[in-house]
Amino acid sequence: MANNHKENKGSRRKPALALLMVLLLAVLVFLFSDAAFVKNARDSLMGRLGYVSEDASGEEFSGAGESEEYENSEGEGAGPDDRFVSDEGFPDTSKAENIDALDASDLPKYNGYNYVTINGNVPDFPEEIYAKAGLVKDGDNLKTEGNLFGTVDSGKIAPYEFYSPLDDHGRCRIAYGCLGRETMPEEGAERGDISDIHPSGWAKGQNWERSHLIAWSLSAENANKSNLITGTHYFNHDGMRPFEEMTAHYIWSTGGHVLYMCEPIYKGNELIARGVHMMARSVEDNGEDLAFNIYCFNVTPGADIDYKSGIVTTEAQASQDARLYVVNKRSRVFHYPSCDGARSMSGNNREEVTATRSELIGQSYTPCGSCQP
Ligand SMILES: [Zn+2]
Repeated sequence: MANNHKENKGSRRKPALALLMVLLLAVLVFLFSDAAFVKNARDSLMGRLGYVSEDASGEEFSGAGESEEYENSEGEGAGPDDRFVSDEGFPDTSKAENIDALDASDLPKYNGYNYVTINGNVPDFPEEIYAKAGLVKDGDNLKTEGNLFGTVDSGKIAPYEFYSPLDDHGRCRIAYGCLGRETMPEEGAERGDISDIHPSGWAKGQNWERSHLIAWSLSAENANKSNLITGTHYFNHDGMRPFEEMTAHYIWSTGGHVLYMCEPIYKGNELIARGVHMMARSVEDNGEDLAFNIYCFNVTPGADIDYKSGIVTTEAQASQDARLYVVNKRSRVFHYPSCDGARSMSGNNREEVTATRSELIGQSYTPCGSCQP
């Protein structure tokens, strides 16, 4: 009996040790795993702690019909966008500023909210967009050909996606389609790797994200370079995503179709879009449940963005005084002296300068992507 008792005591410690190991393993997995759901959880936590990961492409909408993550990240604290989000976490367009029409040469100014509505939020699709889906105009409504009085026969709709080829500057242009379950990823499908795509204007170390024109959750398009633009986290996550989720939600809950358009809007020859023009309209119910027409700003509040070079200057960086930097005269990259890139630089190209950050950028130097000076 005594022996047994002793053995029990010893073997009781083993499970405790095993539990500790499992916990340790779980923490390691949470910190380092690249699995999408772990990454999302980690980014969400980091986001709450005020940390935005570099090239945080994992932040983009990752699952069809999942609005939970969006609500979680927006639910706490009174963010500037609160008046734009309904209880379901969907955009509340009734409170947005409205413009009559979008004019690329006279774009609306960002005023602290991530989008404006256009034309009273009523979409107005060019004929080719609905014609391609087999739809024709019937007064204010659309109908499938051969059907009477604006009725739509789901079986006659031709779902499709269209992506423009890149322009002469390597920039994405308009993407549109008639979206439905047919164009969406299979249930349980995992988003593919898009880190090989460097959209126009992409600059390292500036916290840019690859923003889908038509979200993966709607199009199942992964590394399609005609569908990925350089966007800020604020634009991608807080601006576009609620509209994408609302669209995905409509399709999943009704089985219907949605005419959808997303066009990046550039100023002149700039490589990064100032924003996107997004429109959507549900088809089967003639836009009754889902209709929007917005311009979404590609900005970061408080930051100054060079839409040609992709260099972002945050408020903290802008207020920096002159200090010591190490510059590479050949590659035109500048570093903090403590950066490995500064230490390993060859003598011929290396120069130490005392300057402000903006002075160096003005001399066409680029901040190092690693030390992010
Ligand atoms: Zn560096």
